[in-house]
Amino acid sequence: MDLKKLAAALIPDKGLLPPEKYEEIFPPREVSKGAEVTRLAPSPTGFIHLGNLYSALADERAAHTTGGIFYLRIEDTDEKRKVDGAVESVIRSLKYFGIKFDEGAEIDSPLNNYGPYYQRRRAEIYRSFAKKLIEEGLAYPCFCTAEELDEVRKTQTEGKETTGYYGKYAKCRNLSEDEIYKNLKSGKPFVIRLKSQGSIENKTTFRDAIKGDITVTENDQDVVILKSDGIPTYHFAHAIDDHFMRTTLVIRGEEWLSSLPVHLELHKVLGFKPPRYAHTSSLMKMDGETKRKLSKRKDPELSLDYYRKAGYYPLAVVKYLMTVLNSNFEEWSLKNPDGDYRDFKFKIDKMGKSGALFDLEKLSDVSRTEISKLSAEECFDFLNEWVAEFGAEADVKHFENKDYIVKILNLIMGTGGKKRRKDIERAEQGVRLMDYFFDDTFKPEYSYRFDKETVNTVLNEFAAIYDPADDNSAWFAKVKAIAPKVGFAAEMSEYKQHPENFKGSVSDAAEILRIAVTGSPNSPDLCTIMSILGKERTASRLTSAKI
Ligand code: GLU
Repeated sequence: MDLKKLAAALIPDKGLLPPEKYEEIFPPREVSKGAEVTRLAPSPTGFIHLGNLYSALADERAAHTTGGIFYLRIEDTDEKRKVDGAVESVIRSLKYFGIKFDEGAEIDSPLNNYGPYYQRRRAEIYRSFAKKLIEEGLAYPCFCTAEELDEVRKTQTEGKETTGYYGKYAKCRNLSEDEIYKNLKSGKPFVIRLKSQGSIENKTTFRDAIKGDITVTENDQDVVILKSDGIPTYHFAHAIDDHFMRTTLVIRGEEWLSSLPVHLELHKVLGFKPPRYAHTSSLMKMDGETKRKLSKRKDPELSLDYYRKAGYYPLAVVKYLMTVLNSNFEEWSLKNPDGDYRDFKFKIDKMGKSGALFDLEKLSDVSRTEISKLSAEECFDFLNEWVAEFGAEADVKHFENKDYIVKILNLIMGTGGKKRRKDIERAEQGVRLMDYFFDDTFKPEYSYRFDKETVNTVLNEFAAIYDPADDNSAWFAKVKAIAPKVGFAAEMSEYKQHPENFKGSVSDAAEILRIAVTGSPNSPDLCTIMSILGKERTASRLTSAKI
């Protein structure tokens, strides 16, 4: 068969560059020895998830700890799944977590010499190589319809055979020249398939950068490389793009491991040296007693938007993911509590070989710790950003008064020193913790442990003597002074010695005041709360809280 003629009939595009030309257009990168070139290659479906961030962090760390390059490629071969704005959303979401690309789609960079970075815009490159494979007898047209393929699959399933297009089932592999041209003439749609040279009798061992040595059976499937619309499949695009974008390390989910034999064969027939592969374990969660994969349907925490909306501190999410990526990060982090996670020596081969457990509780813990390290000003900026995007109208209004919020934050978080409070875990919750400092969001439900007369006497008496100029000890002396008026012990020591002599103690008096002013029996330092609220508002709360 005249394969050159066949290739021209199947891929008639005039002016396609010869394949070898691309080696010149995309020369090996000038990076130092050992530098990793990595990429994130999402489909623009608009759903950016924790797995993407997890991978992106591994890619970014692998590149940037070795002086390499991390780029963004958009795998948009499936037009149906494409969502407008998805690429910007990937970039924005990752940037929120402090992850930036050096190069790639929509990235303004002098390094952008290996594009286009959208697969749909690389059609000519794929076609040029598909044509070459046809000319070499390593690819052929397949005219099987979806129904015919279904039929084959049914037969294979019933006979408990491996499904797919291979061996005797690869019907179009042996079409005669006449049959091919007849089909073409009648306008039958066709795909281009690889003519696999492999055999399931052969095994090869390959070294995964995470999972170690893996022995796989050679591919014998005549996989589709170009679909009927001329767009490549993932397999074909992956081999060509990662070769010409000069990726050194392909970090991707372990769901691709089963396709690896196909990818190895494609690299071989295309004459490319395969990149190193690192297949990451899936993110898992505990569901009761069992461990299972995070699922889009069941777990809102799979979506990255979840973390932004709930207002987790972005650096905390990254640091927590670092502990999932490299188990020795936690130890490093304890030794370097104020260290930049970028100084940690990330190692791809230290990643877990199986199921990486993602635990929201632990993330919350890291988030509380990270937020507790912020100054009141930094915390204001963090909360303010959340409020601007997700806060209620009232929150936005409250945050216009920065000085007031900073005062509250100084109180809530503790000012300096070692004894930082760890009240705030997420922006949303931090903002809600401040509700009682504003009259429009102060919605108390007074629940006192004492009778009406006791409560009202404490409130009246204190309102009469409260002075916002009082420091902590003057303030407390006043609370002590009113305690005996309701039969409470003024000194805790007195009360502890003879509780039977008293209705309560000075701390019960303080609790009544606390409930009146904040709506809750638990709050940070009440004297400071009162001084932040000011005399008038404190007085009015004491009055309204009477029963
Ligand atoms: N587009 C593929 C995905 O989103 C990328 C896999 C890879 O990283 O090679 O799953």
